[in-house]
Amino acid sequence: MKILEINDLSKSYDGKNNALKDCSFSIESGKICAIVGESGSGKSTLLKLIAGLERPSAGQIKIKGKVVSNDDIIVSPQKRNVGLVFQDFALFPHLTVKENISFGLKKDKTKKVDELLKKIKMEGYGNRYPSELSGGQEQRVSIARTLALNPELLLLDEPFSSLDTNLKSDLRQEIKQIIKYIGQSMIFITHDIFDALDIADEIIFLKEGNIIRHSSIKNTYKDVENEYLKKSMKELKLNAERILKAVNNK
Ligand code: ADP
Ligand code: MG
Repeated sequence: MKILEINDLSKSYDGKNNALKDCSFSIESGKICAIVGESGSGKSTLLKLIAGLERPSAGQIKIKGKVVSNDDIIVSPQKRNVGLVFQDFALFPHLTVKENISFGLKKDKTKKVDELLKKIKMEGYGNRYPSELSGGQEQRVSIARTLALNPELLLLDEPFSSLDTNLKSDLRQEIKQIIKYIGQSMIFITHDIFDALDIADEIIFLKEGNIIRHSSIKNTYKDVENEYLKKSMKELKLNAERILKAVNNK
């Protein structure tokens, strides 16, 4: 079962330049996909189109087999069953952890919040305020708040960019465990290929609005040796040795 199918998707903000051009790919249910690319390559645009926050210039998006966007149809963000977590976590500072997580819920609040606190391993933290949490805890609460709405597909825009490097590795593992445990389909954006190697099942490389490669993590060692990719993605070239080591350790 495919959770996401994208066909010939393009987006131009000004009618001249393409932020995204003729992108096509699909993702199987339960998979974690990383979108990797340099700043300005169109990563956030792609996520916004999937979430419905921007309208494509052309192309089609299907979520769980249902068309949510094409030339004739445009389904509103609320009706797409997609959860978007922003870069800065954006927790409400005047609400406790519990209140933040239950914010969008109408019924069974306590039960659902307790379940989620357990899933993110923060059972004792329900009554704290965001200012009393570490960056990693804030991030997990932010994810829990989005998971509370039972999204079919979870989208994260640069989830690790504001965190300390020495915290990152542990956090990546924690997030991966949570997501895999609940079988959540997820797409996340990163400019750091090591985020992708640690967490994702597959990687999409974006450059100047084009998908230049979509491969499984297992095949990343081939990408490091691919001359075209190396030329196109500085990061692949600069980190080739470390990447190979990371892939071999999997
Ligand atoms: P990334 O997330 O990979 O850094 P973006 O998707 O934010 O890239 O941006 C891709 C391109 O689209 C960039 O050239 C950017 O300047 C442009 N862009 C992004 N958002 C807008 C907008 N709201 N209006 C005009 N141009 C935009
Ligand atoms: Mg971005």
